[in-house]
Amino acid sequence: MKAKKNKGERSEQMQQVSAGLQEVLGMRQWRKEHPKASWQEIETAVDERMNQLRAQLIKDVVQMGDTEEWSQKPEEERPRCATCGKGLVARGAQARWIQTTGGEAIKLTRTYGTCPQCGVGFFPPG
Ligand SMILES: [Zn+2]
Repeated sequence: MKAKKNKGERSEQMQQVSAGLQEVLGMRQWRKEHPKASWQEIETAVDERMNQLRAQLIKDVVQMGDTEEWSQKPEEERPRCATCGKGLVARGAQARWIQTTGGEAIKLTRTYGTCPQCGVGFFPPG
């Protein structure tokens, strides 16, 4: 019974999210401009916007787990070298592009660090 109740709450939440998205994605305006749009056209318009939003969402969720900007932190709070345990020294940010299944590309930036003792380079796990 409990699971069923949760499901109901979830779909209610989904309706609220959908209503908000119609606004955010400009779908209300789009629908006004395309009052005779076919199912196919509506689906394509929603997909295009959802894929952009999806890419942004993935990026935000991925970076949520990322170590925040650590280059300015004191040594003991910086990520540590996996070999000797010494605090890493930041060597600037490196960007990489990731292609989503929705067709959008996401740019992720991470701070690259090297160990002052062993000189090994790391992307601290985030
Ligand atoms: Zn080291």
